[in-house]
Amino acid sequence: MKPGEDAPAGAERCSLCGELPVIRMSGPDRHLCAAHLIADLEERAARTIRERELVRPHDRIAVAFSGGKDSTALLIILSRLLPAWDDVSLVAITVDEGIAGYRDDTIRAAEAVTKKLDIDHVCVSFTDLVGDDLDTLLVGRETQACSVCGILRRKALSQAAHNAGATKIATGHNLDDEAQSVLMNTLRGDLPRLVRTSDADSHDCFIPRIKPLADIAEKEIAAYLFVQDLFPFLPECPYTRHALRAEVRSMLSSLEQKHPGTMRNLIRSKRTIEKQVDRSAISEPLRCCLQCGDPCSGEFCQVCMLRKSLGK
Ligand code: SF4
Ligand code: ZN
Repeated sequence: MKPGEDAPAGAERCSLCGELPVIRMSGPDRHLCAAHLIADLEERAARTIRERELVRPHDRIAVAFSGGKDSTALLIILSRLLPAWDDVSLVAITVDEGIAGYRDDTIRAAEAVTKKLDIDHVCVSFTDLVGDDLDTLLVGRETQACSVCGILRRKALSQAAHNAGATKIATGHNLDDEAQSVLMNTLRGDLPRLVRTSDADSHDCFIPRIKPLADIAEKEIAAYLFVQDLFPFLPECPYTRHALRAEVRSMLSSLEQKHPGTMRNLIRSKRTIEKQVDRSAISEPLRCCLQCGDPCSGEFCQVCMLRKSLGK
């Protein structure tokens, strides 16, 4: 319902002001109107940042900005929180994987948002990194799309963040993404990844990664943008159909609908396991890649191994 419309008798009202609600929030039963939804999300992101000390004075935060809804919400929220922080700056980084029929639209959307918010914007591509776009790299190996894409995107983002002088990399991972990752790592039997710290896989060699939206549900982020007319209606990546994440996502959202709280419970279980496990006993110690010198857990980093398998 739109603000100002009459509600049918007995209809729900905003839990804070009695206006017509636009959303039933995840977690404890609450309905919020548009104004309270916007305030609630911005306050919750600010609280996550404060409580987990994700931002410090003089930080330069590189926002991984695909132009999609999560990173758009993240960039808007951080730009609104920015005046309250001491000498903190933002730079948006968009990685162009080179995916026909998908990435051009999202890059245009990303450029429009950064221009409107007056935030520095850097665009880097897989072609700059390995000499070919993702579509070309994947010929004959389309089912590996997301793992190839993930490895190269991480490297492209780290490099660009380093070049931009960033001290943190912020990503738009939301509560749904976090719950999906817990389930995916469990399904893959990947304990080291499962117990990686929630806030940032920070190590002296890496620029720490932060996830200010990790406690906010995907539908709340979508509604936050929608009520402000900022929702980016963009095409979906054509490789999504090969992704394990797509199956896990649909399974978890149907479970969440039938059994509210499922996603939060999964994340809670992961945090409990995280506290119990001695990470050093299950993870390989960090070394330097024999090829490129980047930190990694084996002899070669994932990018160098991928390059080798692609003949690059
Ligand atoms: Fe990359 Fe897979 Fe995401 Fe497409 S769906 S952008 S291939 S990770
Ligand atoms: Zn390497």
